[in-house]
Amino acid sequence: MQSQYFRKEVKTSDETAPRRVAVLGATGSIGGSALDVIAASGGRLTAAVLTAHRQTAKLAELTRRFHPEILVVTDPAADRAPLAELERTTRILYGPDGLDEAVSAPEIDVVLAAIVGGAGLRGSWRALETGKTLALANKESLVLAGSLLFDLARKTGGRILPVDSEHSAIWQALASCRPAVSPYGASVGSGESAGKDLVRRLILTASGGPFRNKSLDELERVTVAEALAHPTWKMGKKITIDSATMMNKAFEIIEARWLFDLPPEKIDVMIHPQSIIHSMVEFIDGAVLAQMGTPDMRLPIQLALFGMERRRCPSPSLDWSLARSLELFPPDEERFPAISLGRRVARDGGSAGAVVNAANEVAVAAFLAGKIPFHKITGICQSILDHHQFEQEPSLERLFELDRQARTETETWISD
Ligand code: NDP
Repeated sequence: MQSQYFRKEVKTSDETAPRRVAVLGATGSIGGSALDVIAASGGRLTAAVLTAHRQTAKLAELTRRFHPEILVVTDPAADRAPLAELERTTRILYGPDGLDEAVSAPEIDVVLAAIVGGAGLRGSWRALETGKTLALANKESLVLAGSLLFDLARKTGGRILPVDSEHSAIWQALASCRPAVSPYGASVGSGESAGKDLVRRLILTASGGPFRNKSLDELERVTVAEALAHPTWKMGKKITIDSATMMNKAFEIIEARWLFDLPPEKIDVMIHPQSIIHSMVEFIDGAVLAQMGTPDMRLPIQLALFGMERRRCPSPSLDWSLARSLELFPPDEERFPAISLGRRVARDGGSAGAVVNAANEVAVAAFLAGKIPFHKITGICQSILDHHQFEQEPSLERLFELDRQARTETETWISD
């Protein structure tokens, strides 16, 4: 007998047709996890487009395994030799225009945006412009241009689905209300915000990174190797440094502000060193729903690629035979000022996100190159933002211009 608590599995022809995925940033950490999900999907997902920036040898290796129809190398100056023998069988496009062409190809169903940094915005924009579903890992897209991206999605019918583990956790918790009310509709943040008044607050969890217990003095002396040694997550270098400064959490506040259309006052951060609770939603009746699991990006990626369908996932499950404690405590915003900076940018909107994101990218690269100490990264972002002439409604072109200006200003600031 069918239990009243489980719905009958009904497969539509749509659900069984393979979904063709464009994996932007296929050679990165999220790209690799996404390809694991595709490989384990039993043919329900195919990698139709793969992109890399410079790692063409790795792209060639992935092509032999996943047989995409189109490859894109976004850096036109990258070494083309490793791809030479694939030219006969695979379409290979180069540069940003190549990326635009591949993303908008009519045969693509879902675009996974997993390019790192502000460079990811172009692919996200193009995906929504052509009315596609955007599985968004590249949080910088929303930091730079959240308002414009959602306006665009509303115009074209494109959908933005979260990949970031915290936002995926919130999406899953919100879905629990679905039978009675449908908070945020099927498409997160698409303007169908009926039900958002049921949410009292979102609680983003943060591991606290490798330095959560370090004093301000100690933070002045941390090394690049220490900053890259994240205690719970294995990620690309840039986001690992952002996690150590907590700029990553700042960006996630901004990301949540746009995805769930809530003011920053309703978005809290809690330090949770075990990285088991991926985030929580507190509803107006006081119920708090948390999503838990191992720290592994394959589940949130799978949920976004399958539009929240539950199915077996290649990520390991939690081992419930082990005793464990789950700690939660508020962050120290004096040692990690990035969090209040994130709230400020989420509140101001306009040009603030583009400026902070650009300053942060330059400052993180300078830290990795040994040019500035770790503790200066957030201060630099703050100063560049303070000296910026705020604009409330910049166009996309203007945001790109402000991004370039802020990069130059930050470079000058660092070299002075
Ligand atoms: P990685 O550094 O591991 O990978 C970055 C990818 O982007 C690579 O494929 C790289 O190509 C490509 N790339 C780099 N620069 C450019 C450029 N200028 N133009 C086009 N492509 C470029 O990053 P992650 O996978 O860690 O992160 C990707 C995104 O996902 C980031 O926005 C991050 O914040 C977000 N994210 C990551 C998580 C994680 O667990 N890693 C978790 C949640 C969000 P190549 O290899 O050829 O240089």
